[in-house]
Amino acid sequence: MKQLLRPTYITGKLDPNFRRNQLLEVCLVIGVIALLSLAALNAFLFNDLDLALMDAIGAGIAGGLLYLLKKRHLIELVSWLFVVMIGMLISTFLLLASGNNNGYLWTALFPPFAFFLLGKNKGLWITLLFFSVFMFQLYTTIFVNKAPHLSLGAFLNTLEVFVISLLLYRFYEKTRTEANQLLHEQSLRLEKMAKTDKLTQLFNRQYLDSTLFSLYKERRSLPISVLLLDVDLFKAINDEYGHLFGDEVLIKLAKRLGESVRDYDVVGRWGGEEFLIIAPNTSQLDALGLAERIRRQLNMQVNESVTTSVSIGVSSTDRVKSPEELISQADRALYQAKSNGRNQVRSFVSAVESEHRKVNNTA
Ligand code: GH3
Ligand code: MG
Ligand code: MG
Repeated sequence: MKQLLRPTYITGKLDPNFRRNQLLEVCLVIGVIALLSLAALNAFLFNDLDLALMDAIGAGIAGGLLYLLKKRHLIELVSWLFVVMIGMLISTFLLLASGNNNGYLWTALFPPFAFFLLGKNKGLWITLLFFSVFMFQLYTTIFVNKAPHLSLGAFLNTLEVFVISLLLYRFYEKTRTEANQLLHEQSLRLEKMAKTDKLTQLFNRQYLDSTLFSLYKERRSLPISVLLLDVDLFKAINDEYGHLFGDEVLIKLAKRLGESVRDYDVVGRWGGEEFLIIAPNTSQLDALGLAERIRRQLNMQVNESVTTSVSIGVSSTDRVKSPEELISQADRALYQAKSNGRNQVRSFVSAVESEHRKVNNTA
């Protein structure tokens, strides 16, 4: 019951509910229009008010389902109600047709709706249930009411078509859901690959670039800060212990870095032994605190003779006009941190101040 009443938000064509939703919507819209037209015809042309009232009630039900689907997003509930309604309509029609005009052909429409809308298992049970009802009706039409044009052969033919179509539709539905699932898994895998750095498993530069760009565009009054981090004297580690060992150190640093940031920070590999942390809704002061914490946590002993340290440049959107400028300010701050002795954090503001001091001292 809980599942039936849980809203389902369709996220795109790859969503398994996308086509279900579409089928329901088309059928219900057609249902509302057709029933309203019939109600008008019956009321004004044929003067049959009872029938007109029934048509109008039918249009109201279809309209209600359309509301539950479009406004409340209750696709599971609407699917059930729709399938049961189709079953009841066919059953009523069989009763009215009483074996004439090949009316029982309508029963063939039930399984495609049931399997497509409810899936291979629920679809099977509801189809079995309604087929039993339809077969019982056909049985009474032929053997109790003795419909003139129908015989045991007609009953058996209908039964055989029922069974085969049920098995076939179940098979199609299984194939369809499996293919959908495979496609979904593959697209998730590709999406992850496209934004992940292979060595460190952090985000890659392309993802960092696009995220920074969109966060910058969407920022309101709240600042965004970036932290550009570079491993100190990393070339020496490579030179002394080899590139593979260097790779392992990068992986360890990346793991520790990922654990050091906050949930809403975006952290990735900017290139080589450089990392970028995008800190949304974070002032320069708070970013400096975060950077200092990261610096301390990455100052780690990898083995008996190797200790890593990092330098970090921090800048914030308070005083920039573009995401590119934000990065270039962080780069300038990082440069200052390096030339000031490494293993430290510098903000763009402090970097500019100390550049000025240097110029004044030499003048
Ligand atoms: P600084 O403190 O000034 O940053 O010194 P540094 O030695 O870290 O800087 P430099 O730019 O001279 O060297 C960076 C080194 O990082 C050189 C390059 O071989 C190494 N490096 C870049 N990417 C990788 C990688 O994916 N794996 C390994 N093992 N090394 C890498
Ligand atoms: Mg570097
Ligand atoms: Mg370096």
